[in-house]
Amino acid sequence: MNNPYDASPAWAEQADRDDPLRAYREQFLIPPHGDGLTLYFCGNSLGLQARGVREAINDELDYWGELGVEGHFKGRLPWMDYHEYVREHLSELVGASMSEVVAMNTLSVNLHLMMVSFYRPTRERHKILIEAGAFPSDRYAVASQIRFHGHDPDQALIELEADEPDGTVSMQAIEHVLHEHGDDIALVMWPGVQYRTGQAFDLAAITRIAHARGCMVGFDLAHAVGNISLSLHDSGADFAVWCHYKYLNGGPGAVGGAFVHERHARTNRPRLAGWWGHDKATRFRMDPHFDPTPGAEGWQLSNPPILALVPLRISLQLFHQAGMQALRAKSERLTGYLEWLVEHELADTLEVLTPRESARRGAQLSLRVHGGRDRGRALFEHLTAHGVIGDWREPDVIRVAPVPMYNCYRDCLGFVHAVQAWKGSGN
Ligand SMILES: *Cc1c(COP(=O)(O)O)cnc(C)c1O
Repeated sequence: MNNPYDASPAWAEQADRDDPLRAYREQFLIPPHGDGLTLYFCGNSLGLQARGVREAINDELDYWGELGVEGHFKGRLPWMDYHEYVREHLSELVGASMSEVVAMNTLSVNLHLMMVSFYRPTRERHKILIEAGAFPSDRYAVASQIRFHGHDPDQALIELEADEPDGTVSMQAIEHVLHEHGDDIALVMWPGVQYRTGQAFDLAAITRIAHARGCMVGFDLAHAVGNISLSLHDSGADFAVWCHYKYLNGGPGAVGGAFVHERHARTNRPRLAGWWGHDKATRFRMDPHFDPTPGAEGWQLSNPPILALVPLRISLQLFHQAGMQALRAKSERLTGYLEWLVEHELADTLEVLTPRESARRGAQLSLRVHGGRDRGRALFEHLTAHGVIGDWREPDVIRVAPVPMYNCYRDCLGFVHAVQAWKGSGN
């Protein structure tokens, strides 16, 4: 089969009918546009609301109203252990054991908490390696940690430039920088999927090389979790952090996540402590001495926000039911279809920057608009006005992510028709 795809509406409709995951779309609220629905390609930025969320939040509000403080111990899911209700599905999703993951805080906060423990610079080894053009929050976080330890980011922050034509980074470039500077690098902080290019990385390979050079390794999985298949435990990474509001549909500002490898479960490294990280069995003795829960839960500070965890719990149930393997299989085909359409129907307008091999990307395609920034903005605004929701990255890139949970093949074809309509009106 040289050509598995076809640009006809009939092909897209048949592909949707044949999609084994088609029922999941019905489980989500797709924002309306006019008499119909938006073509929502922004699940990489804010995932949609699952239909079950409203009722599940109302349940908690009812418990609060009826039980007051007793809601910590009563109700269907007592609040005391609430973060544990997402732990099993979350650990399954990221390929870790239950004690290696925790839902807590938010991404940037978790990144700082992890660096407090795993970025321990010495005079000889105090640098941090990140990718050039990293997400601003990550760059601010690592630079501020460097300053916090009395070093200078201008000297101690290594930002690896992209070495491939479309702005992506080869494994050889990572190997090379670690070969050159590995002895000085305390921490390699790398994305699972880079937010701007959509490039996915081989976490195990990066960890292997970095560990061989004596560096700690942490991953930011904001764009990877719920998007690509992950085996965090087997990757050997020391820690990872992520948010839940992108592919995982946890809702705006949702509680984030963290992974700490089992080998650090009982670490004596410094950490910032709070009562929820204290060993659960003895937490309520209110002992002045901090005795951490072994594993990732030992990094918790506060008792968790129950209402904010509800959408995540509901969404993770859907990921569990659908299965990450099936989601990923659909994702590869769906994104492959959109890529094929862009190349066959829109090559004079758009260019795919995201790597072509499915092992090197997730759902997202980053599309450069030919003709520069103004033309790009004009197209982006046309799409938005017509209910095609992607997002804009300066200076000339539109990011679109058909996500396997609720996007369909007709959405992808609709994107192409919307761009063609814009071109047809003289652009
Ligand atoms: C989305 C995203 C963030 C957002 O951080 P918050 O702390 O959740 O606001 C940070 N880093 C990366 C790489 C992201 O993609």
